[in-house]
Amino acid sequence: MMALAKTAPREGLWQIEAPVPDIGPDDVLIRVTKTGICGTDVHIWNWDDWARKTVPVPLITGHEFAGEIVEIGRNVTDLACGQRCSGEGHLIGKTSRQSRAGRFHLDPETRGIGVNRQGAFAEYLCLPAFNVVPLPESISDDVGAILDPLGNAVHTALSFDLVGEDVLVTGAGPIGIMAAAVARHAGARHVVITDVNPERLALAASVADVEPVDITRETLPDVMGRLGLRQGFDIGLEMSGNQSALDQMAESLVMGGRIALLGIPPGKSPMDWSRVVFKALTIKGVYGREIFETWYKMIAMLENGLDVSGVITHRFAAPDFAAGFEAMRAGVCGKVVLDWTGLR
Ligand code: NAD
Ligand code: ZN
Repeated sequence: MMALAKTAPREGLWQIEAPVPDIGPDDVLIRVTKTGICGTDVHIWNWDDWARKTVPVPLITGHEFAGEIVEIGRNVTDLACGQRCSGEGHLIGKTSRQSRAGRFHLDPETRGIGVNRQGAFAEYLCLPAFNVVPLPESISDDVGAILDPLGNAVHTALSFDLVGEDVLVTGAGPIGIMAAAVARHAGARHVVITDVNPERLALAASVADVEPVDITRETLPDVMGRLGLRQGFDIGLEMSGNQSALDQMAESLVMGGRIALLGIPPGKSPMDWSRVVFKALTIKGVYGREIFETWYKMIAMLENGLDVSGVITHRFAAPDFAAGFEAMRAGVCGKVVLDWTGLR
């Protein structure tokens, strides 16, 4: 089969011929139709410090996918060939305290496909049946391929009750935009999204009914005045990993405000902690998706009118992957989707 792999410890990814994976008794084989390129894949392409420390070479990368089940292991009883699916790319252990309590997303032994194990940038993917999420007919393969980052957005946005609340999202990358769309869908009053990149803010406004703010041109106190928010925002969703964005968020939240933090700062990040204490803020770190509650809620919302398809701005045939990575590296895109159908 064709696949994209890290075959040497340096910048780049390469197209390879690889054997179709053998599946175990509890696995399924998925014929991949579409994949999403993630910021994580760009880190792996760039071969930065994190990638060097984390990713074994050689490795087929990629973890955002949609496809169709073409083979099932002998212990698998609840899935069938022909089933369209996406799936959770975090593979968990079953022995930790957290897993045994049903909090699968907090398992400390979590391994990622395309990061620690063979991934989804391939014609075929072997996945534990446990991780498969069937797709209803109403969800396209394109959207199926971005359920992993949509799940990050849903997990973060639904961390706190949003109904009737004023929500600040910092960072209009694909995940921030989708989180803003979810906040709007879930019943927030005002949803403000900040960025420093006007193209991303324009994309945000085209995907969801949100208030885009270029933070290089307008301050949050000005925005609050314009919208009539007297005390500040009730809830912050940090989606940029930028240290000044988090600082501005803490400044502009109400007393008792709540922050869900998905963005990953590049290193240790200074913060005015006395502000957090005196404002009695709650900060929650968010990793991955709740397995499988986030998937359930996300699919239910997609079936109930949530539309994030506009966040996909670029589509390429899989052999043209380099152009997709180029768009990602330039930051001029929303989600980039690769098409694995029609290769032979
Ligand atoms: P992205 O890099 O595409 O988007 C980040 C956006 O933040 C960019 O558009 C950038 O212009 C903007 N930004 C930069 N400085 C800013 C500032 N001062 N104020 C407001 N915006 C600013 O990232 P993404 O793919 O949308 O992911 C969002 C974040 O979530 C990233 O930090 C990513 O590493 C992280 N992430 C975390 C998890 C997790 O499980 N915790 C999973 C996936 C991604
Ligand atoms: Zn991802």
